[in-house]
Amino acid sequence: MYICAMQLLDGKATAAHIKEQIKKDTAEHIAKGGKQPHLAAIIVGNNPASEAYVGSKIRTCEELGFGSTLKRFEEDITEEALLDEIRHMNDNDEIDGILVQLPLPKHISDDAVINAIDPGKDVDGFHPVSTGRMVLGQKAYLPATPYGMMLMLKHYNIDTKGMHCVVVGRSNIVGTPMALLMSRNSNPGNATVTLCHRHTKNLKEHCLQADIIVAAVGIPKFITEDMVKEGAIILDVGINRIDDPTRKSGKRLVGDVDFDNVKDKCSYITPVPGGVGLMTICGLMMNTLEAAKEHSNID
Ligand code: NAD
Repeated sequence: MYICAMQLLDGKATAAHIKEQIKKDTAEHIAKGGKQPHLAAIIVGNNPASEAYVGSKIRTCEELGFGSTLKRFEEDITEEALLDEIRHMNDNDEIDGILVQLPLPKHISDDAVINAIDPGKDVDGFHPVSTGRMVLGQKAYLPATPYGMMLMLKHYNIDTKGMHCVVVGRSNIVGTPMALLMSRNSNPGNATVTLCHRHTKNLKEHCLQADIIVAAVGIPKFITEDMVKEGAIILDVGINRIDDPTRKSGKRLVGDVDFDNVKDKCSYITPVPGGVGLMTICGLMMNTLEAAKEHSNID
């Protein structure tokens, strides 16, 4: 039997390394006369997960030497009022990047909000202009989570050329852009990609063919041991809260992969927590620094 040595793709260590680099680049950029990167975040309502995500983005801004603005709105804000706020942020030269934390209340259209953001400040990489540029291989703000995963593959020097990558989940923010990035003529990239979703037949057979599985489904422990080939690389995007009476909170986080039973079959795997989630912030911060460079009139 082939037994491979599994290596953890450590989001904490990788993110710390990348953030150190961003901090250094930011200081150099400011020393050359560039503007301090400034991220503006909008949060609507009081979803605890959104609060936690936005809180950690703002703290990361402080850590890296970025400025930040956090605007909170009640759940019942109208779509028009929210769009107005975004237009103000578009016009504010202080602000380089705008992010609106999703999900939004049902009466507000995600598309209307995303489309209202100035593409030059679209550091979440969700605007159609960013998507179009990414598809065409032009310079673009990449969506933060796929960008973070690409940074992680690069950090570990994983050569994905010619590999078969199976992406499970086709959301606009994770699965679809990740499938695209992995198929591009780039490093990492140059993989042959299969994009699976809820209507895919024989999902297990597809996954068993995979050299790399990207799991972005939103179902706890969905990818099981019998779906994974020996030596596969697994990137687990899922963040699911499940009951755990042994924890004080009564809950714990698990991914979309049955980590305990799958890990020994893999060559590399991301844990949850401590994997892809921490890389997402790196993607966002890389985009914000890039936006500040674009908005500074220096060479
Ligand atoms: P989503 O919830 O918008 O969509 C889920 C996708 O899974 C859909 O495309 C659907 O077709 C597919 N799917 C559902 N059931 C399936 C099945 N039985 N077989 C095959 N495919 C199936 O997805 P999302 O927003 O990309 O989120 C996915 C997970 O990633 C969630 O747990 C979310 O919390 C997490 N997430 C994590 C980060 C991060 O930074 N780590 C960022 C975004 C999302």
